[in-house]
Amino acid sequence: MSADSPRIRRLADWDHDALSGLAAEYGTPLYVTDLDRVAANYNRIDDAFAGIECMYAAKANTGQAVVARLLEEGAHIECAAAGELHRAVEAGAEPNTLQYTATNPPANDLDWVVDFWETEAPELTVTIGATDTLDRLEARGFDGRLAIRVNPGIGAGHHEKVATGKDAKFGIPHEDVPVVAADAAERFDLVGLHAHVGSGMLTAEDLDAHRRALERVAEAAESIEADLGAGQDSGAEDAALEFVDVGGGFGVPYREDEAPLDLDAVADYLHETFDAVDARLKVEPGRYVVADASLVLTEVNTIKPAAESTVVGVDASLATMIRPAMFDSYHPIRNISAHGGDGGTEDGAGGTDRETIPASVGGPLCTSADVFCTGRLIAEPRRGDLLAIGNTGAYGIELANQFHSQPKPAEVGLSGGEVSVLRGREGYEDLLDHERLR
Ligand SMILES: *Cc1c(COP(=O)(O)O)cnc(C)c1O
Repeated sequence: MSADSPRIRRLADWDHDALSGLAAEYGTPLYVTDLDRVAANYNRIDDAFAGIECMYAAKANTGQAVVARLLEEGAHIECAAAGELHRAVEAGAEPNTLQYTATNPPANDLDWVVDFWETEAPELTVTIGATDTLDRLEARGFDGRLAIRVNPGIGAGHHEKVATGKDAKFGIPHEDVPVVAADAAERFDLVGLHAHVGSGMLTAEDLDAHRRALERVAEAAESIEADLGAGQDSGAEDAALEFVDVGGGFGVPYREDEAPLDLDAVADYLHETFDAVDARLKVEPGRYVVADASLVLTEVNTIKPAAESTVVGVDASLATMIRPAMFDSYHPIRNISAHGGDGGTEDGAGGTDRETIPASVGGPLCTSADVFCTGRLIAEPRRGDLLAIGNTGAYGIELANQFHSQPKPAEVGLSGGEVSVLRGREGYEDLLDHERLR
């Protein structure tokens, strides 16, 4: 898969006949994940960021097939929980290549991680975001590879809830980092600095905030290199820091009128900002790699005319895909049944003789939050139609849950023209899986 894959993939670009076939065979709601697109997205960002190591932040989508495919493409995996390390290893990751970013890590997580480090992964890198974590690691006998997460005091991203860079929850305040680093270097093998400024950065304003935040990270790195690298030759090999990992957060255009991220421009300012730093650079995109590789297919069961916007009831809900309810996220929606097999045109009106009407598409849950869009112009839905909700690969199936006793949906994967079931559909018996008092 080459770097010249299209930078944007819209719902209109999917083969509508094939999608209808999948819905008929596997039922709805159904996640459809194109593993070739996952690989293409990874390779595009990896190529644009030449000279920068590109890991994959697994929490965006820890599906075993997704992680396995990215390992095949040469990606290393960044994990933000012990369970993610477990899943990465199950998908085939070499334990020593893994990186674990701890945020308020529960005791169980640290116990598991230190045991994993002792028994399987002596080269595991652990990133801490609080000095308490240093003490808690030391108390467990850990003295391995360690990175410090910097809180640059500036956040960026598509929503307040993901602009982590200015939230005190994440990382050591940038002005304190050199002192914490000096302490950490005495007790651990200090190898890097880390920063993750936010998620879904797309606008010029976001990138400007990202750049300003990273200037603070670069300052901290330079200061540490000056303090700890004193007496050493400069040069990456014996530098005080092996790497600076500037996190993920690279956005994708969810709306039809948004332009894709200019990766080359980002690469330029990354190189510029860290010009005076000896350590090599890493990034760890999650969303960018998986977002447009997946969609949700859902069937229309109810049409209810209403004053401003027709109510369109579907079988997917916020339990299937929670981003609109949780982050007010926009996801494109297309009436697959109304458009021709070639997908028609991009504006939602082409390839169909149906009228376009304002529609509010929502699921079966008893909360007003269970809507995917309100007053959206869609080719007139009819009962039994198949709708596609686009760009659901990141934080989509990953956040699927059983609220309202909704069994989790099935997922199929596409690769080289082959279809495989990645996840079987849950049934009602699964809802009672761990209940004991029956
Ligand atoms: C979530 C997360 C990422 C990935 O963020 P995206 O916005 O999905 O690219 C990277 N690093 C860390 C530490 C994270 O928590």
